[in-house]
Amino acid sequence: MSKIDPNLYGISTNSVRAGQHRSSESENSEPIFLTSSFTFENAAEAAAKFAGDEQGNIYSRFTNPTVSTFEERLAAMEGAERCVATSSGMSAILSTCMALLKAGDHIVSSASIFGTTVNLFGKILPKFGLQTSFVDLTDYQAWEDAIRPETRLLFLETPTNPLTEIADIQRLADLAHSHDCLLVVDNCFCTPILQRPIEFGADIVIHSATKYLDGQGRCVGGAVLGAESLLGKEVFGFLRTAGPSMSPFNAWVFLKGLETLGLRMREHCRNAGLIAEWLIQQEGVAKVFYPGLQSHPQHELAKSQQSGFGGVVSFELEGGRKAAWSLIDATQLFSITANLGDAKTTITHPATTTHGRISDEERQSAGINGGLIRLSVGLEETDDIKGDLQQALAKALK
Ligand SMILES: *Cc1c(COP(=O)(O)O)cnc(C)c1O
Repeated sequence: MSKIDPNLYGISTNSVRAGQHRSSESENSEPIFLTSSFTFENAAEAAAKFAGDEQGNIYSRFTNPTVSTFEERLAAMEGAERCVATSSGMSAILSTCMALLKAGDHIVSSASIFGTTVNLFGKILPKFGLQTSFVDLTDYQAWEDAIRPETRLLFLETPTNPLTEIADIQRLADLAHSHDCLLVVDNCFCTPILQRPIEFGADIVIHSATKYLDGQGRCVGGAVLGAESLLGKEVFGFLRTAGPSMSPFNAWVFLKGLETLGLRMREHCRNAGLIAEWLIQQEGVAKVFYPGLQSHPQHELAKSQQSGFGGVVSFELEGGRKAAWSLIDATQLFSITANLGDAKTTITHPATTTHGRISDEERQSAGINGGLIRLSVGLEETDDIKGDLQQALAKALK
């Protein structure tokens, strides 16, 4: 067994070493423990472990060594005391709500969040007596006005999908704490490499590991991170009882993904920055949304909160939906898919996919119109990404 103290090391070191407990086989790379249960030396040990008097693995719905390595590694990277891995990003959000809220409680959420999270808050949680008010991410007065005596949790994503708006995490954390609420930040777009919300006062960080943590589009998974006092009993307790646990195989894919996360994020940022700068100069492109651009309304805030601007770039074509669809169809290299955070560049038409099920009005007020295209810029050669966009743009504008 060997274990490093993550407090002694930087994020890159932790990304390759934190959470590893070598077995008696002295393996260098982390093994996958594909086992649903664990054995005991005798009946007394089984009883002690079940009673919680002795630490140790019992059953993989509760804990599994490969999943624990992923959890310890991601916690070290986010600067969190504790991580609870889940079967998906959505189950990370569900577990947080089920564990920390009760019927009658109220959530204030940014309106610009992942579409499925909108459905969870707006359609499923109300069945259990949990209400949500949605507010404009950057309207701090609206956040304050929406808080009620029964509000327990404030929820946001920054940067947002697909328009890359930025929220001031510290400001919303202060607001949450002055009303005895928790601030939950879905850190999917930045990962701990670019932004560590806990440093700005967030209480809980959510991840869809499916995106950049995996980074190569293979597995679905998620994580909840925060203080032991919040997660240890309630969130972990919910998970071991209700069962949205991460599979050891997926945990292994993600923990190996973490080892290259820094390298990949820096390259995603570099490519996305070059593409955004290039796009603003193109004819037929009405607007480009990327926090790294000087013209981005919250460029300074992004700079103060993030160490890079991320891999997602959105842009609006003058020709509306027709032009956007022809550009997408004319690309030769990109993957037409709604996933993001992949080594492969992906291209999406938000108005008819990720945001297709909300009303026209909601879409308009969210600023998602027909001409909008979202790119999750991958790790291909920047010149090849640009080249594909250039030829597709020429065809779309014909
Ligand atoms: C994809 C995504 C989720 C949901 O994650 P799954 O792993 O698909 O369940 C949540 N939040 C954001 C910002 C996402 O992009």
